[in-house]
Amino acid sequence: MLEFIQEKITRLFDKLSGRGVLSESDIDAVLKEIRIVMLEADVHYRVAKELIDNVRQKARGEGLSKSIDPSRYLLGILKTELIQIMGPAASVRVDATGDVVMLVGLQGTGKTTTAVKLARHLKEKRGLKPYLVSLDFARPAAQEQLAVLAKANGFSVDEEIAGRGFEGLKDLRLSSARRGCDFIIVDTAGRIHGDETLMGELRQVKEMLRPSTIILVIDSMMGHDVLKMSESFMAGVGYDGAVFTKFEGDSRGGAILSFRKTMNRPVFFVGTGEAITALEPFDPERLIARVIGSGDMAGFVEKVSEAVTGADLEQVNQRGKGRLTFQDFIKQLRMIKRLGPLESLVGMLPGASRLKGIAGSEEVGNDLKKFEAIINSMTSRERDNPDVLNGRRKQRIAKGSGTRVEDVNRLMKRFYETQRMMDIIKKTGIKGLQHYRH
Ligand code: GDP
Ligand code: MG
Repeated sequence: MLEFIQEKITRLFDKLSGRGVLSESDIDAVLKEIRIVMLEADVHYRVAKELIDNVRQKARGEGLSKSIDPSRYLLGILKTELIQIMGPAASVRVDATGDVVMLVGLQGTGKTTTAVKLARHLKEKRGLKPYLVSLDFARPAAQEQLAVLAKANGFSVDEEIAGRGFEGLKDLRLSSARRGCDFIIVDTAGRIHGDETLMGELRQVKEMLRPSTIILVIDSMMGHDVLKMSESFMAGVGYDGAVFTKFEGDSRGGAILSFRKTMNRPVFFVGTGEAITALEPFDPERLIARVIGSGDMAGFVEKVSEAVTGADLEQVNQRGKGRLTFQDFIKQLRMIKRLGPLESLVGMLPGASRLKGIAGSEEVGNDLKKFEAIINSMTSRERDNPDVLNGRRKQRIAKGSGTRVEDVNRLMKRFYETQRMMDIIKKTGIKGLQHYRH
């Protein structure tokens, strides 16, 4: 879903990182590319422009020229900007008995489905008993859709009030209380366009029910139209926040950014499927981390240090005066095996998409026994000086360990690769591995 933005931005910053200085034109070039990535992700052009302008302005400050890693610094500015736009996570307000949550939005966006999803969520998470009602006065089929879905999930639903038109609304809270319910979720009519007739009707419902929260339900696939629609609902009836439905498809997440920046209202949830469990509280930071692929560096380092005990490290460091030997190598293979699937570790690194497959630990597991046998068949001189291994020695070792010369060669190849990686890590730390190429 958002992977493609992430990949592009990662590649962009990869091109830059390692450079000591970023010139004004470097920065302009990157910002231009970020803008294109945003537009491709369905971020509204107005929003993308403003975002880029802000980043540019901040990049001109002193920090960038003083920073050790300017491209990281620039990425940091972008991230801060995005965090500011997205704001903190927000939850739906349901405080008092009889509170009303009202859903509004265009037809087909997912209001009815979201009404039932929300009922389930609030019941599970806050222990509140929901009462559902459809106020699509003109369409009995829509009322029935809600009733069927609500009952199928064991929720109380009002099937009379809508039949009495606006008059019936006066009794809504009473009906809810009679059924022993704590709060009410109101599903409303939708039209293809948010015309004035619809807005008038929604305003009247709002006047009569005084909801504690009004939620605009938005189809994530709407792309750029999301702004015009959100503005017209804001002017027509007003709302406290939004739910973005159909977020699991190939929606690129840009609509959320546009909405957030322009309307200054939170996104409470995203809908991620047709099932009523497919509703997730919206987490702005997680979205941003995915968009710009900042990676969980702290988590990575922590996990590695957990698996690699101090004693291991010391031994690795002491032997062979700093350069990796076979002895160290076998130790490392055992550590890697302990780390678990390396893919998951590597996934925490920025620029991870390229690193995949360097040293899959499944392979390590399979090879470990063979490699150990091979190394055991070496003389201690060979173990400490891998470079002395010529064809004759390899043949002898293969025979002695019950393997083939190909296996010995494979071990050698892996060994020299690892030696190179270790040299990089020694020089630049684990971070240096980001730029390691096979
Ligand atoms: P309404 O006209 O706004 O009430 O929309 P509905 O609730 O009837 O939903 C319209 C269609 O969208 C239905 O087929 C739903 O199953 C589907 N839908 C709603 N939310 C989601 C979602 O988050 N993901 C997916 N894939 N489909 C959804
Ligand atoms: Mg509906």
